[in-house]
Amino acid sequence: MPSENDTIFAKIIRREIPADIVYEDDLALAFKDVNPQAPVHILVIPKQPIPQLSAAVPEDHRVLGHLLLTVKRVAEQVGLTQGYRVVINNGQDAGQSVDHLHLHILGGRSLQWPPG
Ligand code: AMP
Repeated sequence: MPSENDTIFAKIIRREIPADIVYEDDLALAFKDVNPQAPVHILVIPKQPIPQLSAAVPEDHRVLGHLLLTVKRVAEQVGLTQGYRVVINNGQDAGQSVDHLHLHILGGRSLQWPPG
């Protein structure tokens, strides 16, 4: 398993591999998912390498709140006026594949519920 500083998302933060970045500030980065599951599929990640939501601690409350506000901001920026879904896959059963917390923004089409 890669260390927290050696995930593919850490490399995107450090600009070691390319990504289609749509938003950045001191705490967060947002970029297009390389394998989109909807017409709009953007990932919002903290620059701080929290591996997954269940690893977050009370001291992370500021960055966790900031991530949700970043989702709202990015969704507005890309014009998701008809709604969108926010997904966090946490751990093995959820299919988390990158050990760096990420929030999926999915939109641009009608989404089914429940997800698989
Ligand atoms: P998850 O399955 O919740 O861990 O989501 C990881 C997401 O990261 C998947 O939707 C992948 O398509 C996406 N992904 C993996 N590598 C990259 C990359 N280099 N650039 C953008 N998205 C990526």
